[in-house]
Amino acid sequence: MMKKMENKSSAYTINLAAIEGDGSFQCPKCGMSISPEDETEDNYKILDTKVDDNGDLSELVISCGKCRSNIKLTGFQGL
Ligand SMILES: [Zn+2]
Repeated sequence: MMKKMENKSSAYTINLAAIEGDGSFQCPKCGMSISPEDETEDNYKILDTKVDDNGDLSELVISCGKCRSNIKLTGFQGL
């Protein structure tokens, strides 16, 4: 039996609480600068969002607009 583990192992994770400045970061794979403030899909595309019990955003899964890598963003509570 094959277990489906691709989804977890292929995604990069970035903790926004650990990033200084305006919250922009570089794609872990291709190095393109991504700013969460920039909501154009040239930059990145939102694939999935998760909220916690209080309705606050807790996790965001995006796709890099350049290399299409999946990147999981966490740490929104610290912003
Ligand atoms: Zn990229």
